[in-house]
Formats: sequence, C-alpha cells, structure tokens
Amino acid sequence: MTDQQLPEGHRSGYVALAGKPNVGKSTLLNSLLQQGVMAVSSKPQTTRRRQTGILTLPQAQVVFLDTPGIHAPRHELGKLMLDEAITALAEADLALAVFDVHAEPDGVDAQVAQALSVNRATLVALNKIDLADPASLQEHWDAYQALLPEAEMLTVSALRGDNLAELVERIVSRLPVGPRYYSEGEVTDSFERDIAADLIRAAGMQLLRQEVPHALAVHVDDYQERGEGGAFIGATVFVERESQKGIVIGKGGRMLRDIGTLARKQIEAMSGRKVYLELKVKVLPGWRDDERALHRLGYKEGR
Ligand code: GDP
Ligand code: MG
Repeated sequence: MTDQQLPEGHRSGYVALAGKPNVGKSTLLNSLLQQGVMAVSSKPQTTRRRQTGILTLPQAQVVFLDTPGIHAPRHELGKLMLDEAITALAEADLALAVFDVHAEPDGVDAQVAQALSVNRATLVALNKIDLADPASLQEHWDAYQALLPEAEMLTVSALRGDNLAELVERIVSRLPVGPRYYSEGEVTDSFERDIAADLIRAAGMQLLRQEVPHALAVHVDDYQERGEGGAFIGATVFVERESQKGIVIGKGGRMLRDIGTLARKQIEAMSGRKVYLELKVKVLPGWRDDERALHRLGYKEGR
C-alpha cells in the first residue's frame, strides 16, 4: 500500500461493470483506464476469470470489476459466469450499468437491470451516444430510466471519449473515503497469464468466422521468463469439435500462425517485452457444459 502521501479525503472502492455483450464495457474500461495511471491485475483469491482494471488518480483509486455474462444462461459456462457476476455486483461499492443508447432496451437489458437490484448504488452509462439518432434519444433515455428508476444516468461514448471525465468524477464522488488498495503499476505473473489467455482467445475470435469463436477456450500451459530474451508462453486452444480444430489450424497451419502472431503482438504490447508464443489446438468435446473442463480452464474456483 502506498497511502503515505495521499490527499485528505482520498476515495477508493470497487465498481462492478454490468451490461449485456457488445454494449461497450471493455471499450469503456480501456478508455477509462487510459485517463489515469493504469495498472491491471487479476484480483487475488477470486476466480481467474474475474479481471480488474485499476484506475489510480491523485485523489482516488477505482477498482473496476468486469462482470461478463449477465445474460440468459444457455450453457453451464453462462451459469457460472452469471453467479460470478452477481457476486461481484453484490460486493461492489458501486454498480456501473452500461447500455447502448442508440438502441431501445430489450429483454436482456431488463435482465441486467434486474440483476442490479442486489446493489442499491447504481450509475448508468448510456454508451454509443455518437451513434444515437437525436430524434429517438429522449425516448431511449426514458426507456432505460424506466428499467432503473432510481439510478443516475449519463450519456457517453467509450469510443470517442465523450463525457468520460464526467463519468469518472461521478464514480469517484460515490465511493467511500479509503486508501489505495494497489500500488501504482502493480502487475503480477498470474495477471499476465490470464491476460495472455484472453488475448489469444480474442485474436481467435477476431480472425475466425462466427461459429467457432464461442467454442474457443484458451489455457496457458507454460509461462517462463527468459531474462533479456523475454518470455516463453505455451498455450492450448480448445475447441468443441474435430471440424473446428481444422478451421482453427487452417490450410497449412496458416490460421493458427495468424492467431499466434496477432496475439503475440498484443501480449508484447501489454507486457512491454518480447514474447515467444507457441500454440496448440485440442478438441475437448462439449467443454462448455463440462464442469471438470471448466475447472481446468479456470472458469471456476478450486481447480
Ligand atoms: P462488451 O461486450 O460490452 O465488452 O463490448 P465491447 O467493448 O467489446 O464493444 C462492442 C463493440 O461496440 C465494439 O465493436 C466496439 O468498438 C463498439 N463500441 C463500444 N463503445 C462504443 C461507442 O461509444 N461508440 C461506438 N460507435 N461503438 C462503440
Ligand atoms: Mg467485453
């Protein structure tokens, strides 16, 4: 802890992000973190999937918890992620709901709003204001407000940066007075492992066609420091079916090479050093519904 020189009235706390897929939570988190001294870390003693983003400002430290998966559980994976998200919401000092204001709320948004009832302190970011049609903005605003009548709302654009300073100000003002929980620049090995797995998965999702990505999971098998030479990372990409394995590997192994190159560049950017990345592909039939497989892939505590 580095709270010796903190100003009086320094605030700190946990903010749980909630919102259906694609509303812009990750984009928002990234944009918010770029505004301050950024450190990202996985929170110790929680499941490996729950990642935190830490915004360290002179007057406050905000620990964001991304809570993926508040949506109808279709697979076992969905259920586990939902449980985790609800826990994160209940424990947080503030819940930050993210909605896409350029669209009307749907049933999933309503579900998100309902899940937020476990935490009374809720702030709403109506994202993608840059896409919103002025003619329907008021109507959408009212419809989202109706989902969470008590919540304070503001429009933002995570992509363009509109209103983000105001959002940070409002978040900070609602946190309790408290110390810094994390020192500036804190980054751990376990964090890098988790982020590396996520970046490999994201690279796969970016390069593969629609069907396959949801059946992708990544496990980092080996992560070795090699001093001046950087780091060696060995990882396995799991798919559900033999046919998907072929797609992920691609003709002459080209797809897997492309995924590896894209992921490696991003891991290097994240960790600030050279990375040697080796990827394998394995079929793990029906892993999304298999408790043991989910443990192994780090989706559940107590592997
Ligand atoms: P998540 O699933 O909620 O984490 O959403 P992402 O952060 O992955 O964003 C989903 C998509 O929406 C991406 O293509 C983003 O570039 C896009 N996006 C996010 N925020 C904004 C925004 O403020 N404006 C616009 N136009 N697009 C956005
Ligand atoms: Mg996301």
